[in-house]
Amino acid sequence: MHSARFLASRLVSSEVSPLFHRFSGCLVTNTPRPSGCITLRKTAKIPSRKITTTSSRCAQPASSAFDDHAALYADHNWSRSIPITDVSKDPDAKMVVVQWEDGDSQRYPNVWLKSNCHCEGCYSKGAHGKLKYTQHLDLDIQADVVSITQDGQVLAIKWSDGHMTSVPSNWLRCNRFDQSDRDPVADAKLDLWGSDVMSSSRLRTFEFDELMQSDEALLDWLSEIKVLGISLVKNAPKMSHQIHKLADRVGYITPSTFGTHSDVMVVEGGDMLGFSNGYLMPHTDFSYYVSPPGVALFHCIKNTSTVGGDSLLIDGFKAAMELKTDHHDAFNMLTKHEIEHVAISVNKKITQQGFYHHARHPLIRLDALGQLKQITFNEIYHASLFRVPVDDVIPMFSAIKAFNKILLRDDNVFKYKMKAGDILTFNNHRMLHGRSAFSTDIGSVERHLQTCFVEWDCVLSKLRVLKKSPSENLE
Ligand SMILES: [Zn+2]
Repeated sequence: MHSARFLASRLVSSEVSPLFHRFSGCLVTNTPRPSGCITLRKTAKIPSRKITTTSSRCAQPASSAFDDHAALYADHNWSRSIPITDVSKDPDAKMVVVQWEDGDSQRYPNVWLKSNCHCEGCYSKGAHGKLKYTQHLDLDIQADVVSITQDGQVLAIKWSDGHMTSVPSNWLRCNRFDQSDRDPVADAKLDLWGSDVMSSSRLRTFEFDELMQSDEALLDWLSEIKVLGISLVKNAPKMSHQIHKLADRVGYITPSTFGTHSDVMVVEGGDMLGFSNGYLMPHTDFSYYVSPPGVALFHCIKNTSTVGGDSLLIDGFKAAMELKTDHHDAFNMLTKHEIEHVAISVNKKITQQGFYHHARHPLIRLDALGQLKQITFNEIYHASLFRVPVDDVIPMFSAIKAFNKILLRDDNVFKYKMKAGDILTFNNHRMLHGRSAFSTDIGSVERHLQTCFVEWDCVLSKLRVLKKSPSENLE
């Protein structure tokens, strides 16, 4: 490796010095609003939940084209990056090696550094995207000259093709390949809960009007849906289309086979169990969709039945973690095999066109890191088709039974009778919901929920936008 520390002072006064001064100036003199964390004015009325990840080594990115991706990085825990003290080339490995003042170091592949050049020719700040693609890259590109500014805040590279790239130290600190901090929004640390979620005051409630008016409340509410998986909105007008207003605050509704929303009530002669007054086993919605929608908004417009009609709510991730601990083989079985779901409605009392949906999902879906990603479970729609090895059929039933036993245990089921004006909002990829049977008089509507969904893409995007600059979004 060829140390280039000695080149720094020479290059500061050479052709690349304007770049250095631009980055250095931003880093040293600007004190932009912290963009790597949720900043909320706390009120006594609604204590806020800050989305947290387990650890962070990232400072706020410099005010530059790198700012585009500030929300990618975890909460900063220092305002200015640890200075780079040494940089060297490793031509054999085709990498640049960066050493920081605190003894930390990182190897950066040349091709990765070049592909992430944020100069005006390589990156459009206006369009927030790359202008040079892998097809333009020389995989064997070498760094001719590497240097750092005198304050150690910027690394500059002159490539073998003559191109110049400059990157801030704190951005390098954030980009550590598989050692990078996890996504501060999508990978926020979750709170798992049981039947006492409300009695223990962990279930947060939000006023409908406040969510309509305040972006701070909106950020707080969406953070709650991400972290706890459930929150309760109170005092919505007891009339149709209030969930549409709430969804508009987040982004947009995901339409389904039912249209923009469903009016869940007893439909005489209807051919779906949800539209009866019977018991509904806790389940996730739209398990028969290839992409079940992510976040549910259930508005109670009426719930006057004298007997029953309680919502049964379960944290599927908590149950899955219990299954993993206590019945590891069952857990593996449910993550390995897909279950087929079929939903058919033909008599057109519930939808105008009728439908025939069919999709396959593992009951418990893991992400590439083996973390829980999604529960998809509704036994009503489990199809007879079971494309698993025949010797795994009985173990699959055994695994589902073991999971059911955990899910339905009293200390895991939160029972809540929704009141008119309540909007239950929850993660449909994590939470199971059902209801107890309820009394009903012929000809009168005793229980009416209006339900709709928004995608996680919408919610995560809104969280990042609000998190990046809450003040810009306040009305
Ligand atoms: Zn460039």
